[in-house]
Amino acid sequence: MKGLEIKDLSISVGNRVIIHNLSVSFRDGQIYALVGRNGSGKSTLLNTIMGAPDYHLTTGGITLDGNNLADLTTNERAQHGLFLAMQYSVEVAGVSYADFLRVALTKLHQSKPNMAEVLTELQANARSLNFPDFDYHRDLNAGFSGGEKKKSEILQMLAIKPRFALLDEPDSGLDTDSVHKLADILSHLSYPTTLIITSHNRQLIDSLHPTAVYDMEKLQ
Ligand code: ADP
Ligand code: MG
Repeated sequence: MKGLEIKDLSISVGNRVIIHNLSVSFRDGQIYALVGRNGSGKSTLLNTIMGAPDYHLTTGGITLDGNNLADLTTNERAQHGLFLAMQYSVEVAGVSYADFLRVALTKLHQSKPNMAEVLTELQANARSLNFPDFDYHRDLNAGFSGGEKKKSEILQMLAIKPRFALLDEPDSGLDTDSVHKLADILSHLSYPTTLIITSHNRQLIDSLHPTAVYDMEKLQ
């Protein structure tokens, strides 16, 4: 089966079960929204797909094109085309945005990227995303405002061009105009990406014309 297939998945953190018997599938080239109240497990699901530590599968599993994701490290999942824009991104002092992207793209594609092209495109994307002061010489996310951190994650996605982009509340902390710009960018990607987006902004979700809107509580 092509795509991401999640079957009877239960996830626990420590000894607490967060997600119980959840099943859902995500096909290539589609847009999906995941909704649900705070604490319903949206981030837990996306973090688990990406292989973040602390999240333990107690039942069921996740396959990508029929292959068990549990067998893959986070790096390998990224090499298979998975990307996560985190709800709360981390500041990485001492690593510039440009260096981070160069290393990420080199690892992902097993070849040296054309950084001049990558950085020119990055600046253009930053302007489209209402982030004209974006400076790739600065350390990754360090000192970025909340909204800038969210935009930084989207800029990474645009540079990496993943097959599956998991976007965890990409609009939180963005002003109204920036949310419109984000919607416009996500609606006009120049390459085939499956978007799996969590958000509390129904207007943003509707503007993306998703294939399906899944309520976390109804998937379990
Ligand atoms: P949502 O993204 O839908 O708001 P989360 O997935 O962030 O929900 O959280 C679901 C529940 O799991 C919450 O009660 C949260 O406190 C708990 N949780 C998530 N991650 C962790 C963690 N690493 N350690 C402890 N509890 C966690
Ligand atoms: Mg969340």
